[in-house]
Amino acid sequence: MSATIDASRLTLLLNELRLPAIKQLWQQFAERSDKEGWPASRFLMALAEHEIAERDRRRIERHLGEAKLPADKILDNFDFAAVPMISKAQVSALCAGDGWLDKGANLLLFGPPGGGKSHLAAAIGLSLIEKGWRVLFTRTSDLVQRLQIARREFGLEAAIQRLDRYHLLILDDLVYVTKDQAETSVLFELISTRYERRSVLITANQPFGEWGKVFQDPAMTLAAVDRLVHHATIFEMNVESYRRRTALARKKPGPGRPAQHATIKNVGSLTPSDNQPST
Ligand code: ADP
Ligand code: MG
Repeated sequence: MSATIDASRLTLLLNELRLPAIKQLWQQFAERSDKEGWPASRFLMALAEHEIAERDRRRIERHLGEAKLPADKILDNFDFAAVPMISKAQVSALCAGDGWLDKGANLLLFGPPGGGKSHLAAAIGLSLIEKGWRVLFTRTSDLVQRLQIARREFGLEAAIQRLDRYHLLILDDLVYVTKDQAETSVLFELISTRYERRSVLITANQPFGEWGKVFQDPAMTLAAVDRLVHHATIFEMNVESYRRRTALARKKPGPGRPAQHATIKNVGSLTPSDNQPST
């Protein structure tokens, strides 16, 4: 069959039609189809399915590129045993996206530094992208800076609207936004615009009680918190720093380690002051 058509013209046509997967595969499929005597409809179906699968793959690749997720922060290497207050099943449900991203609901992760908030946020972001959602991960202070520049150029509204293409905006480290009125109001604009339409995932070291320091004006703080929590899942990750825990675990005498490297103190009776980082 393939011998009877002008293959180079077909290549041109497939280019014109923007069907790169079919362009690449049709000869191989045609040979197989001739050999195995496939009905024409099966041949056409196989090519169409490959084109669609390839298109989905490229789209997800694009979304991964734009999301700016930190590398290697994935669910597979997230140790759920370290955060017993969070169930893996609940996180898996959130990773589907349905039921919250389609409603513009939010996810708020609170807890002291090192507890895995950014890791979990990035891991959820990655899973959502794999399901076809669009996500942007950004340090809150970086985004606030970008929005402030946009505002100076009278483009704040447009800049916030451009963020609408992301079903989920991950604002990492909310509390590190500097406490200047102009900055907090762009953040407030962003939260208000997305309210009930597009989701945000916020990580913060301090719970709401301390947010008066983020939004200087108490009325604005109240209004922002109100919008954020109206439809939200909140994880309080009040655990010890994972870095510190793993550093301590490394210090413990393990099997095969030379005795002179063993930990000096009674590891079992460490007091909080013994747990301070060495820096
Ligand atoms: P936070 O954002 O709460 O300050 P991070 O997510 O940055 O904490 O975590 C600090 C470091 O410890 C990161 O390298 C992270 O990958 C790791 N980490 C934290 N919690 C976990 C966990 N439960 N499982 C695996 N790694 C973790
Ligand atoms: Mg963090």
